[in-house]
Amino acid sequence: MSIVATPIGNLGDITLRALDTLRQADVIACEDTRHARRLLDHYDIRAQLLAVHEHNEQAAAAKLIALLAAGKRVALISDAGTPGISDPGARTVAAVRQAGFRVTPLPGPNAATAALSAAGLDDPAFHFVGFLPAKVGARRTALEGLKSIDATLVFYEAPHRIEETVTALAELLEAEREIVIARELTKLFEEIVRLPLAEAPAWLAADDNHRRGEFVLLVSAPPPREGLDAESERVLKLLLAELPVKQAAKLTSEITGVAKNDLYQRALEIKDNSPP
Ligand code: SAM
Repeated sequence: MSIVATPIGNLGDITLRALDTLRQADVIACEDTRHARRLLDHYDIRAQLLAVHEHNEQAAAAKLIALLAAGKRVALISDAGTPGISDPGARTVAAVRQAGFRVTPLPGPNAATAALSAAGLDDPAFHFVGFLPAKVGARRTALEGLKSIDATLVFYEAPHRIEETVTALAELLEAEREIVIARELTKLFEEIVRLPLAEAPAWLAADDNHRRGEFVLLVSAPPPREGLDAESERVLKLLLAELPVKQAAKLTSEITGVAKNDLYQRALEIKDNSPP
């Protein structure tokens, strides 16, 4: 089965290999058949379609496996971009692989990497989050967990939730961080702005157009951590002499109350700087 990335807006963004594969497919599994038909009509592709979505993924996977077993060529697409990335596909892929069939990725458009490529943030590490939970409490918990990750954070958001999500980011993450708001990538009204996170809610409120379309949000990595207090440093070093990094950080966190992740990062630095 071929996993085929399709455009995230501009219909020119499809690879030659994707077009060949879709043209040769006997069956194309897709999220929404009407949406897929519009896309495929544009390229004059007439394969049979089979809907695979959240609610029927298990049954649809069984049908795809039967088709593969009958020697049919099957491709999987999503509504936009790369299947399996904040889109259905993972369970189908797992089932098809489990049944012993080869799964081949055909790379192509993806909103997260498109935004990262044009953002100019110089941190090499990024952490893909996708959509944050919609409920306030769950979103807050998720952000607390993401706060200490030493990497650019990558979020997806839809227009109806963009304001509350950006407000939550500005309230819960450090004010020194920057945000890149990438809107309508590859489309007519594409816009990519970079600004201090604290200013982002006002930027969105300033113009109705700023809140329209599909969004990727990139939040730059957290500011460097301040050093540990002397007692936590002492406990960590004592435990590190006897225990692996992860365990030493965990126990020190239990003893001192300092965040485990901060202790883990410091433990790695201590290990790196200690003589072999
Ligand atoms: N599978 C897709 C991919 O590879 O990027 C993502 C699908 S997810 C259901 C849809 C979300 O991706 C949108 O709500 C938006 O956050 C982001 N997205 C998709 N197309 C976009 C675009 N052209 N510009 C900005 N964000 C986009």
